[in-house]
Amino acid sequence: MKIKAALARKINHLTVEEVELSPPKATEVLIQMKAAGVCHSDLHTYRGELRATPPLVLGHEGAGIVTAVGHNVSKIKPGDRVTINWLPACETCPTCLNGRHNVCERLATTTFKAVLLDGTTRLTASDGLSLKHMLGVATMAEYAVVDQAGVVPIPDEVPFEVAAVIGCAVATGVGAVVNTARAKPALPAAVIGCGGIGLSAIQGCQLAGLNPIVAVDVMESKLTFAKKMGATHTIDATQKDAVEILRAITQGGPEYVFDSVGSAITVGQSLQAVRPGGKAIIVGLHAAKVEIPLSVATLVLQNKCLLGSFVGSIRPRLDLPNLMDLYVAGKLALDDLITKRYRLEQVSQAFDDMESGQVARGVLVFE
Ligand SMILES: [Zn+2]
Ligand SMILES: [Zn+2]
Repeated sequence: MKIKAALARKINHLTVEEVELSPPKATEVLIQMKAAGVCHSDLHTYRGELRATPPLVLGHEGAGIVTAVGHNVSKIKPGDRVTINWLPACETCPTCLNGRHNVCERLATTTFKAVLLDGTTRLTASDGLSLKHMLGVATMAEYAVVDQAGVVPIPDEVPFEVAAVIGCAVATGVGAVVNTARAKPALPAAVIGCGGIGLSAIQGCQLAGLNPIVAVDVMESKLTFAKKMGATHTIDATQKDAVEILRAITQGGPEYVFDSVGSAITVGQSLQAVRPGGKAIIVGLHAAKVEIPLSVATLVLQNKCLLGSFVGSIRPRLDLPNLMDLYVAGKLALDDLITKRYRLEQVSQAFDDMESGQVARGVLVFE
């Protein structure tokens, strides 16, 4: 079928074009997209900074309605409302058996190669150029084909745009607090970087009962969003003594620092700021090649922990429904996370607004 899609034919080349999408195979489903989240990973991919490079159709956060299923699909049927799970873990490899579905061994040959579970693609440009699916899904398009393992049903009370961001930004931010840090209540926390992931981490800190919750960013607009999402204090990181201010507010440093930026500077600040015995959790990945000088003495003598957290250490088929239940129960204020909506044709504007800090989370919506 012919569909419109946001496509990177080559690095730094973004267009919205009509492309051909092949029908779902035996274990796959066809989804009419209703909403697609706009994430920094999309921007990094289109710029060629992550593992899978163009040509590909962008987008990995998304939700929609199933319109067709392959003959071996049993648990999903046409008409189901679903969100995309771009970490379709095998649940049988040694890593999965340890409960670490987010780093399933299969993902290296599927999600991170931007192909479907059978190693192939379903997308072709009008001139015959074969297109990959960003993170194995490609949600910035009117329709998407993914394996049945790549969708999770959503409750009626959850709007498509909320379901779309739960699958990445929210899972990454909230999961970092709840799963990776296993945060204990009444302890001080800081969140560095207040985009979609950082703001979700602030919601996670609130959910876990952390206090105070200090938001750190270089943009005033993002600090305003952070206050709305539950930060008790904010720090403008352009100030020279930002780390000292943070340590003063938290009386000796936060027990948990969540770094949603993941640059050499912010990782260094996170480790410096966290109190002795505390945890610096690195959530964001600024670029695939960032390397940091590390003070072993700080780690050892002050008993600090430096932890990586990929997509909130989630087990998608358990945690995505749980996050949606928390939203329905009013425990995650995700409506405030989505501050601007765009049509597919406005995707370039959506990226610009994200970079300039105009939005908490932008979402593409489809008619
Ligand atoms: Zn994302
Ligand atoms: Zn696995």
